[in-house]
Amino acid sequence: MRTRFAPSPTGPLHLGHAYSALFAHDMALRAGGEFLLRIEDIDQSRARPEWEELIYDDLSWLGLSWETPVVRQSDRLPVYRDTLTKLWNSDTLFACTCNRRDILAATSAPNEGEPVTGPDGIVYPGTCRAHRSDHGRLPIPDDAALRLDMGYAARAVSDPRAGGNVVTFQEAGHGPKGETGFIDTTTRQLTDDIGDVVLARRDMGTSYHLSVVIDDAEQGITHVTRGQDLFEATKIHVVLQRLLVLPTPVYHHHRLIRDDQGKRLAKRDDARAIRTYRDDGASPEDIRRLVGLS
Ligand code: GLU
Repeated sequence: MRTRFAPSPTGPLHLGHAYSALFAHDMALRAGGEFLLRIEDIDQSRARPEWEELIYDDLSWLGLSWETPVVRQSDRLPVYRDTLTKLWNSDTLFACTCNRRDILAATSAPNEGEPVTGPDGIVYPGTCRAHRSDHGRLPIPDDAALRLDMGYAARAVSDPRAGGNVVTFQEAGHGPKGETGFIDTTTRQLTDDIGDVVLARRDMGTSYHLSVVIDDAEQGITHVTRGQDLFEATKIHVVLQRLLVLPTPVYHHHRLIRDDQGKRLAKRDDARAIRTYRDDGASPEDIRRLVGLS
């Protein structure tokens, strides 16, 4: 059994990260398994080496240790590119030149009804998908984002015996609405509630969804533990695992640590940064207590 904590070095770790890291670490420890750390720094416009250093420092201070070497996603861009090429050549992706404003305009047209919001924001209205040609034989354009054609992907991975269910994963924790056990997702839910998500951003050459799926598989992660805010995104990840013939780990989505107003903590919540607690003289046990893990 192998778990991981996968922070992005775009700011200081806060109490929510501490909870997530301790949760994964404790689970591995109890099962006699391994705990891995992965640095998710594909957004090079926001990632900083000093934040990465602080991650190692805060986690060590919390009493955690992890397997080495630590995988850093920015070192793996060619691996992501190879997978994108494979998906492109099998016509599973399409190039998209829409910006946020185009998407908003297309979804707020008078006959469109209320725009639907999925794990990545407004569900893509399909503008560039409608213009896709037989591009599998053309080179990947470098001036466009690459989106997953969700309808095509769902058809490619569906099992006709499954009665409309396309993908299933095992939830060992709880989704935001208490979802637990085997979670089924239908083609319709995938296309209508999630849609054609971006797998390669124009400025990054990859995306969170693509990189996380490839790396969890390559690192042999058996249990993905992470916050409930990513529960819906897991459905995308399972579709990608089927398309790429990768194993699906068990998922354990955990509760989120919230501020006094009930809002999820964000990187900008410096007041809740582990660093701040450390500077104020807190102990690692105090942090465990604050997140309800003592
Ligand atoms: N880098 C992601 C984050 O910091 C990790 C999400 C995951 O664990 O899959 O939110």
